[in-house]
Amino acid sequence: YAHALPDVRALWQSTRQFAERPYLVYEGERLTYAEAHARVDAIAAWLAAAGVQPGDRVAIAMRNYPEWLLIYWACVSTGIAVVGMNAWWTPEEMAYGLADAAPKALFLDAERLARFRGIAAPPAGLQLVGVRLAEPAPGVTPFAEVIAHGGAMPEVAIDPDADACIFYTSGTTGFPKGAQLTHRGCITNLFNMLYAGASTARAVQLATGVAPPATPPVPVTLLTTPLFHVTANNCGAYATTAAGGTIVLMYRWDAGEALRIIEQERVTSVGGVPVMARELINHPDFATTDVSSLTAMSGGGAQVPPDLVHKIEDRVAGARPSTGYGMTETCGIITSCSGDFFVDKPDSAGPAMPAYEAKCVDDDGNMVPPGAVGELWVRGAAVIKGYINRPEATAAAITDGWLHTGDIARIDEHGFIYIVDRKKDMVLRGGENVYCAEVEAAIYRHPAVAECCVFGVADERLGEEVGVAVVLKPGEALDAEGLRQHCAALIANYKLPRHIWFMADPLPRNASGKFLRRELREQLSAALPTA
Ligand code: ATP
Ligand code: MG
Repeated sequence: YAHALPDVRALWQSTRQFAERPYLVYEGERLTYAEAHARVDAIAAWLAAAGVQPGDRVAIAMRNYPEWLLIYWACVSTGIAVVGMNAWWTPEEMAYGLADAAPKALFLDAERLARFRGIAAPPAGLQLVGVRLAEPAPGVTPFAEVIAHGGAMPEVAIDPDADACIFYTSGTTGFPKGAQLTHRGCITNLFNMLYAGASTARAVQLATGVAPPATPPVPVTLLTTPLFHVTANNCGAYATTAAGGTIVLMYRWDAGEALRIIEQERVTSVGGVPVMARELINHPDFATTDVSSLTAMSGGGAQVPPDLVHKIEDRVAGARPSTGYGMTETCGIITSCSGDFFVDKPDSAGPAMPAYEAKCVDDDGNMVPPGAVGELWVRGAAVIKGYINRPEATAAAITDGWLHTGDIARIDEHGFIYIVDRKKDMVLRGGENVYCAEVEAAIYRHPAVAECCVFGVADERLGEEVGVAVVLKPGEALDAEGLRQHCAALIANYKLPRHIWFMADPLPRNASGKFLRRELREQLSAALPTA
């Protein structure tokens, strides 16, 4: 194993050097690294006293409160795997997750506790810890009691190939699967993040122990997506923590609130799914907000429409547009693209990170010719071990270490990867493949469009037709014919949206912020006349 940083515990220990720097900011609350370390130590000591051992699992079900990260570091630094429970889950889904991952303890906030109480047959022997509860709850240890426990973190030797956490996939294409992210995978992704631009100086220092001659700039990162997914946790929080930066959390995504925080906290980096970046620059307060602290504005986790790359470049002086393409199954990013590279190739997700091999294959798993489109397979140290309790799903997803991403892509002669569409999202129109992302990119070039989502609609003659749900910017007018004419100048006839729905409200999204394409398709096409 190449790096001096074999596991996640070593990363957390190394941040002791930043003792007095601000670590976590949430509304009016601020914690320095020293204060965070004291709490993390207390949580770890409490867990050990409560009989939770290395190799066990502990679940977290809550909003993006600062406690989320404190509990996370306490567990992973002592060999306990964190189960990231989706905070949007209903009582039934929560029951499924708890039965699936079988944690020893569950840290939860008031809203999740209410849902937990709604579970018909809650798992026996599960220790509950309540975070930010308004009043004491029977059978629930208050988080304050855990902190008051004090004590030191137990010394634990960690196997780099042990699970650091179980994170569930976003559930965009089906029921979420519990992915096993190892310490090696998480640390590999961290180095990929630092390499991709978060902090090269810190990457060298972590790998070699040699301090950089000058103090590297300290990042201030606004996390906009939930910590139970890799985007916020393994990418945003890890890279910021490793660099001794400040993490700013928000209760829920709101573009106006985000702008206020960016100005007040002098945020240097803001990310999330691409639609969030679009909401920021489209917001009425954008023009009057001081965003001069921003050095990076990223969008990942879903296709970045190329017009957005140019808009960030034009309108957010000083901020590099950037993207990461990745999945839960890779502990974070597979590719990254930023700055001039991205402006030059705004439809690319960038080259694969050094830790990866990548290839595109046909339906039989054979490599397609260079430049041709196929399913993207990747291999490397950050690929998960598998999905818990799902040996068939694991076997179907990983062949000889190669992860089948389920994404259709092409790789150019320089190794830049272009994500074309999800295999499951492609619209199969009369023998032609229509890629949702390509049609969306064309629609987004219309200045009246705020957001859109393309999907296949069943069609008797062609099998499927192209459908789209569109939300216009306030005060804009556009009709179906106008939109079709706009697209006709950009994409071939067979790709033109046949069914167009103008929606009054923002499009529905899942907890990751991704559009609920399947739900939209079902809901909207159900209302179509059957003739
Ligand atoms: P599920 O696997 O449960 O259906 P999901 O695939 O959305 O949900 P995640 O692991 O959060 O769950 O997301 C990974 C997927 O997100 C990728 O396979 C890809 O389809 C999409 N994605 C991520 N980043 C990008 C990007 N930069 N460009 C295009 N697509 C992206
Ligand atoms: Mg997936």
